Order: sequence, then C-alpha cells, then structure tokens
Amino acid sequence: MTSQTLEVNARNYRWMSRPVVVVCVDGCEPAYLDAAVAAGVAPYLARVMKTGANLLADCVVPSFTNPNNLSIVTGAPPAVHGICGNYFFDRELGQEVMMNDPKYLRAGTVLAAFADAGAKVAVVTAKDKLRKLLGNKMKGICFSSEKAEEATIAENGIDHVVELVGMPVPSVYSAELSEFVFAAGVKLMETRRPDLMYLSTTDYVQHKAAPGSPAANAFYAMMDRYLAQLDELGATIVLTADHGMNDKHGADGSPNVIYLQDVLDSWYGAEKARVILPITDPYVVHHGALGSFATVYAPDEATAAQWIESIKQVPGMESVLTRAEAAARFELPPDRIGDIVVVGDRKTVIGTSASRHDLSALEVPLRSHGGVSEQRVPLICNRPVTGIASGRRLRNFDALDLALNHAQ
Ligand SMILES: [Zn+2]
Repeated sequence: MTSQTLEVNARNYRWMSRPVVVVCVDGCEPAYLDAAVAAGVAPYLARVMKTGANLLADCVVPSFTNPNNLSIVTGAPPAVHGICGNYFFDRELGQEVMMNDPKYLRAGTVLAAFADAGAKVAVVTAKDKLRKLLGNKMKGICFSSEKAEEATIAENGIDHVVELVGMPVPSVYSAELSEFVFAAGVKLMETRRPDLMYLSTTDYVQHKAAPGSPAANAFYAMMDRYLAQLDELGATIVLTADHGMNDKHGADGSPNVIYLQDVLDSWYGAEKARVILPITDPYVVHHGALGSFATVYAPDEATAAQWIESIKQVPGMESVLTRAEAAARFELPPDRIGDIVVVGDRKTVIGTSASRHDLSALEVPLRSHGGVSEQRVPLICNRPVTGIASGRRLRNFDALDLALNHAQ
C-alpha cells in the first residue's frame, strides 16, 4: 500500500508512512497559541513551532464550525462539499432547514476514501452535531464526547468508550468536553493505532476567554500535554482551526450587534426580507446565535441590489455582497445562500430581531466569529514540511495535504 496515492475531490493524497493525526482546535485564534507559549504553559507546542512547521492559513468564510470542519475533511471549500452553515432557507420548501444532515453533503471525505482503501480511521468530535457529517460513509471509529456513553459498534465502530478514556462524560458546555476528545485520541493511538485520526474540539473556552487569560492558558496547557503524548506515540500531527475568535462587545460589555431583520423591517415593512443566521444551532448558550455573517433573502434580484446599497451604510458592516459575488469570493454553493451576504466587521455581530435573541445566557462579554476578521488560523505540523510553493495561499483545508504530502 505504501506507494499508493488516493484522489479525493480532485486532490491527491499519499498513503501515510506513520499515523497521521489532524487536530481542529475550535475557535483557535493564532494569538491563543502565542500567548500560551509565551506564558511557558505549552512547552511541546513551543518546541514544534520551532522544529516543525509553524504556518498561518485562511479558513472558509463564513468562519463557522461546520463549513470549516467539512472543508478540512474533504480538502475542499463549501462550493464543493455543500455545507456552508448550520441553517439555510430552502426556497422550494419555503422553510428554514438545518444543514446538519449528511444528505446535504455533496462530496466524499478524505477520511472515508482512506478507510475504503484499507486504512484504519478514527474520528472524535466534541459535539455530536458534527459526528454524522464527519463520519459520513466512513468505515471505522467515529464518536462524540457528548454522546460517548451511547457509542456502539454498529453506529460508532466502538463501544465502552468511557471505560477506554477513563474520564466521565463532561457537560456539553465545558472545557472538559474538548479534553475528552484529546484523551480519547491518545487512548485510541495507544490501543488501536489508527492510520488516520481526526480530532475536533469545541470553542466553549474560546468564546469566553481571550488569548493569554488564565482559562485560555489552562486549556492550551491541557492540549499541549495530550499532543506531546501523540507525538511520543510516533504520529505526524497537523494542528489547525475551524476559525478564529474576536471580542464583539463595547467597553460596557454589551454586544456590538446589528439586528438586521429589525433594520430591514423598519425600512421596507415587516416580512419583506428574511434574514438567516447560519450560526444558529441548538447550542447557543455561549454566543446567543450572534456571529459576524448573515444572509438575506429578498423578493427579487432588483430589490436585492437596492437593499445592498442601503445595508452598506449600516455601521459595522464590512462587506455586503450579491449572491454571485459571495459565492465567487468565498467559494460557497450559490443555492444555499441568500440573495445578499452580509459580513460584519471585527467588532460587530449580526442578529435577526432583538426579540429573537436570548442574551440572558451570555455570562461574559460576547466573543464570536463568522466574518473575514476570524479567517486567520494556525497551521502547524510537528515535522518540517517541504514542497510548499512560495506564495501559496494556505487554507485550513490543506491540513491533510500538509500531513500526507509535505510532512517529513
Ligand atoms: Zn467553531
């Protein structure tokens, strides 16, 4: 098998010569790593950032969790795999529908292709919402921390996960939910030695704690210990993120939010515009469903063009694009975005109507993501990489390319 190359979504991947682990650290703004290294709490990362490859990459916009996780495992942008948020408006159905179902996936994953070719593949994700998408049509192990207790051989390719990991199943809103992912990754490497493993955490800590803060440094210190163990076990590790994270609040701690549905209703009358926030998901406690990306459905194209000019005047809007412009610039599937795409700036999030956002659960001033301002993410390999063309725009979805084709 060693000379074999697999083609997936028009890219070639070499067969691994040692186990490969790709880690997607949810919401890992590069400053988190720099601050943890500077504080001396991440000695392993400090070392590999010198001796391996320490690069930056651009994630997919909208800089949300699902579009980026799917990009990383398919090696392709949402225009290819189809997942561009948690929600979209299905015009034919006349309904807002969740995009979490694998039926919306338009491309196979590199993970599934390697499993089909005989590799041992394992996926561990913090939240269960991602599990079915990441594990779509994949033979092997695939489970979430959240539902670790329910894992069965038939559904997840593994059972007795909690006993294996030796850690109780954490709350869905906790740093430990991500720790469980790393702990499981180490145990899997020790006991089953997968050829290819994908670990994906949750951004609970990053939504609350800025780079260099005690909670953030504790998180990265924890991660550092597990990564060192995976390295000890002989793995090639590539670490990247689904998106960055920024403060989205004013000096008084209240969120900088534009309630775009309310704005459009006040201008054009109720129910003319439909604002969709693709960040919306069943787990809203840490961000109140507020991110820096929204899409708007207008009655027709001519109206959309007029609205765009007006929305551009709203403070805090970084770009306001037509569907075609957004699809081209961000490599998005045009049929799953609205007539208008609105991106908030570094400090601003976009809501629908004030009455539809429950901000009472926000325990700390809002930090969030979704825009171009959260596009820079780390791309780190524990080994030197060669053969990367100079001037190449690296993406987080080059992680598998880096690990399989370029790592020494
Ligand atoms: Zn995320």
